[in-house]
Amino acid sequence: MIDFAFTENQLAVRDMARELAAKVIIPSIKDFDRAHRPNPDLLPAMKEANLLGFCIPEKYGGLGMDYISLGLACEELEYGDTAARVVLSVHIGLYSLPVLTWASETQKEKYLKPVATGDKIGAFGLTEPGAGSDVVGLQSTAVKDGNFYILNGEKMWISLADVADYHLAFAWTDLDKKRKRDHSGLSAFIVESDFEGVSTGPIHGKLGVRSGDTGWIAYQDVKVPVENLVYKEGEGFKIAMFCLDQGRYTVAAGSGGLIKACRDACIKYSFERKTFTHNIAEHQLVKQMIANMEAGYEYSTLLWQKAGWLKNQGLRSTRATSLAKWVACREAEEAAANAVQVFGAYGFSDEYPVERFYRNAKGASIYEGTREIHTLMQADYALGLRKDKQLEKDLPVVEQ
Ligand SMILES: Cc1cc2nc3c(=O)[nH]c(=O)nc-3n(C[C@H](O)[C@H](O)[C@H](O)COP(=O)(O)OP(=O)(O)OC[C@H]3O[C@@H](n4cnc5c(N)ncnc54)[C@H](O)[C@@H]3O)c2cc1C
Repeated sequence: MIDFAFTENQLAVRDMARELAAKVIIPSIKDFDRAHRPNPDLLPAMKEANLLGFCIPEKYGGLGMDYISLGLACEELEYGDTAARVVLSVHIGLYSLPVLTWASETQKEKYLKPVATGDKIGAFGLTEPGAGSDVVGLQSTAVKDGNFYILNGEKMWISLADVADYHLAFAWTDLDKKRKRDHSGLSAFIVESDFEGVSTGPIHGKLGVRSGDTGWIAYQDVKVPVENLVYKEGEGFKIAMFCLDQGRYTVAAGSGGLIKACRDACIKYSFERKTFTHNIAEHQLVKQMIANMEAGYEYSTLLWQKAGWLKNQGLRSTRATSLAKWVACREAEEAAANAVQVFGAYGFSDEYPVERFYRNAKGASIYEGTREIHTLMQADYALGLRKDKQLEKDLPVVEQ
């Protein structure tokens, strides 16, 4: 039976995120976006609202909420600003859920509990200056030396790089396989930002997500204890792809929030602005753009909620998540471009929010798998060239 109704718990999370966006994000976003500076009140407010670990089980310090709730929170936060949703994408999607799924109990005690309570922040370091889509092109290495791995390398375009306490870092542990570009030579580690040899810094001059922290991380002869290897040597690629399954889901849901923000801004403006003696809401070509936003929001939402349903059941969701992310980001880009159009010259100014939506929408078709990578994935699924097996480890099934 298909059930589109949300549970009371899901609605409570949605309302909490909506309230946070209305109180903490929207009133000041123009200033922080202009200043290219994160809002210092955001992380404390998210912590206070229990939004930093709400879909982590209670035994690890979270609230045990389901993955549809995660999507709803992402939608509401991105309605406020993309950078706020990015916090959930990274801290929960790319760090906490993978640690919950792949890490040992000892690692979870140390590296999940404080993250679920929001006392510590997690990040995800896969991309490097020379390798994004081409994951096996990454150059970082972790060479075993007694009880440590010696980690060297540089990560680039890392969200929350400057504020994170822990990173999931990916590096080659098998140098022969590195030469052969065989991804079974990659491993995943939990690295503390306080470890000697770790340094971070911001990236300046970004097109969008300007109120978000995006930076680089350098690892220079960092001694990472062997206990910080996640799961097993050689499983890093699989873990990275699992991380992306969760991160992409949050991007898809967040993009729905961006489309809704475009639609609402356009509805309001089209009843205020008059041309040729009529509100522009009465012009059919303006209606067309608003109708497309409405449709884009609805089918983006259906797709991420299908992926969320699969996650809640503990079923492999890679294909559905990639489709949801691809479609939602495409729709968000179109909605934001049309929102600028509906506003005319005022859309070209930061007096109104739609130019920020336009710049932010662009980022989502680059990170967590570019538009082209998802296009190829969907084509390969359709052509039967790509098939997913049930993973040996997947998200725990959650009560709703
Ligand atoms: C705001 C922001 C936040 C980010 N946060 C993180 C983070 O927290 N952690 C992290 O690890 N990374 C992060 N990234 C990096 C992001 O994941 C990468 O930018 C992305 O994977 C693309 O890699 P690239 O930029 O190296 O582009 P490239 O891989 O160099 O691609 C360049 C172009 O070639 C196309 N292309 C590449 N390969 C193919 C192919 N086989 N077929 C067809 N076309 C192809 C791409 O689609 C793209 O158009 C972030 C990026 C941004 C912009």
